[in-house]
Amino acid sequence: MEFTELYLQAKKATNPRKLSKTAQCGTVGAALLTDTGNVYVGICIDTACSMGFCAEHAAVASMLLAGENHIKKLIAVNHQGDILSPCGRCREFLSQISENNLDTEVMVGDNKVVLLKELLPYDWRNL
Ligand SMILES: [Zn+2]
Repeated sequence: MEFTELYLQAKKATNPRKLSKTAQCGTVGAALLTDTGNVYVGICIDTACSMGFCAEHAAVASMLLAGENHIKKLIAVNHQGDILSPCGRCREFLSQISENNLDTEVMVGDNKVVLLKELLPYDWRNL
């Protein structure tokens, strides 16, 4: 599966909406492809006091629910269609779900794909 299809699924998942006075969701969508060829999507949840989480986290939760943890490709897109590079917390999170995910292909911009390990130089685990 190409990043073009993952982009469309991530973008389709976005649907910004206010949940309460202090929370909203769906401003960012993420889609990931596992090594078995399945796709999982997620949306972000933003709350006051930083209790929410990124779209990548939600996509990983769906993947784990299905019994998988090896990510081949990942993309995150905001509701305007811009491709977003994973935040620092997500980079570390993805790498801890499976050491194999250090080789995950991450789209970080238009036609720009890097490996997760390139986004995590000087790994603290000395892998
Ligand atoms: Zn993040």
